[in-house]
Amino acid sequence: MCGVLGIMGLTNLTRAADLLLLLTHRGQDASGLAWTENGTIKSAKAIGSPARIKVPSLSSPLILGSTRYPTSGKRVVSESDFETFVGPFIRKNLALSHNGNITNMKFLSGKNYDCDSEFLTDLLEDYLNECNDDLPSAIRKLSSAVDGAYSLVGIHNNRLFAYRDSRGFKPLVFGRTTEHVIVASESEVLDMADLKLSRDVYPGELLIFNGMNMESYSIRQNETHTHCFFEFVYFAHPSAIIENQLVYDVRFRLGRALASNYVRMRLDPPDYVVPVPDTSRPAAQALAEALNVPMREIILKNRYLGRTFIARDQDERDNLAKNKYIYLEDKIRGKSILVVDDSIVRGTTARMIVSDLRARGASKVYFAVTCPPQSHPCYYGIDISTDKELIASESGLNEIAQYINADALIYQDLNGLINAIGITDLCLACLDGEYPTEHARYIREQIQNRPADEECRDYERVFEK
Ligand code: AMP
Repeated sequence: MCGVLGIMGLTNLTRAADLLLLLTHRGQDASGLAWTENGTIKSAKAIGSPARIKVPSLSSPLILGSTRYPTSGKRVVSESDFETFVGPFIRKNLALSHNGNITNMKFLSGKNYDCDSEFLTDLLEDYLNECNDDLPSAIRKLSSAVDGAYSLVGIHNNRLFAYRDSRGFKPLVFGRTTEHVIVASESEVLDMADLKLSRDVYPGELLIFNGMNMESYSIRQNETHTHCFFEFVYFAHPSAIIENQLVYDVRFRLGRALASNYVRMRLDPPDYVVPVPDTSRPAAQALAEALNVPMREIILKNRYLGRTFIARDQDERDNLAKNKYIYLEDKIRGKSILVVDDSIVRGTTARMIVSDLRARGASKVYFAVTCPPQSHPCYYGIDISTDKELIASESGLNEIAQYINADALIYQDLNGLINAIGITDLCLACLDGEYPTEHARYIREQIQNRPADEECRDYERVFEK
């Protein structure tokens, strides 16, 4: 997951940074802006949020933005990491922002690259050189060479372009007026810029915006689309519209489906339904309505804390998780509580919350999860890239319930998930192990025949053929 943004039409750089800020939830590690200035492409980058990017006070006709969530390479710790890890990446007349994850980078490039976005930029530059600087031909070559997820926004020869891989793993939308074009990971950016959502960039489609003229090239068609279901469950902002589905509505429907599972388990109605902020709030509302019990926000988020998920090790993760939530103790004592979260990955958050609620006197703690058990690693851009990070890869439901110490654990099921999302062409690989692309399947085979590597994500390992 990362956020990408492209703007065509004279726009102030501070305004562009404000728009990019809307994509902070897609990547809080680092951020960057690139723009054209008198024919050359320049950039400014920052560790953390786009609010920290220092941009000159000028307007540019072409601007790119990127927020980084590390799914390849390390976390950004200093400015010396910017060139290798933080988009947009610039090469002469080319600049690129990328969301997704390339599974065969190590296979194609040996050990040379640490970050797939930098690798993609160099590959595209090579193909442009081979193709007389013809962008559609270069993108065609790129799309046959690389395996994985990539929603791209770029500048090439003073034009804005967008390309979405032929499976459509990651979202990418655009909107335009007679003066501006905006391409972004999520539609709320268009909304804030007062632009109407035109549509999603189609999987396998290259768009080139030349002035206000739009050219559409069908680069790769006829492949099954596999949109990442976790975008709907967790990543995207609730106001985003992806593949014509409002994410808020999807999450509400996920809650309704969970209510049926709760009833099927013949559990007593809880005193309160309580969301783990923020993602699961619409689901908790739906669950409370369906069970006819009140929803209470008695777990509050310490919003000034960094991400617990990308902590370096379990100790740091536990420490951060401990400080992540604040509880309304008065409302907890003696109550039976149904907690709703979007997912259980390692189980750290769920275990901590159940223990905190019990310590504050809850009589019962049920735990509901809007996502079915994630039992397989993701190779396409969620940073759960090895089996060892997933409690559900080895443990069954009873063991997980025991580990988090809940009185009952209520998971979403696959049908509930698919019906709630409202589209069926989804990537569910982290749930069912059905990887839609060839190189991901190859990695999976290799991994199963080798000892685990504690240091490396599965797709960052180099396998000798
Ligand atoms: P864990 O504590 O390891 O079980 O992780 C689950 C928590 O992390 C949930 O509260 C989610 O909201 C959040 N989460 C799940 N998947 C991700 C992800 N890929 N990146 C960041 N946070 C995540």
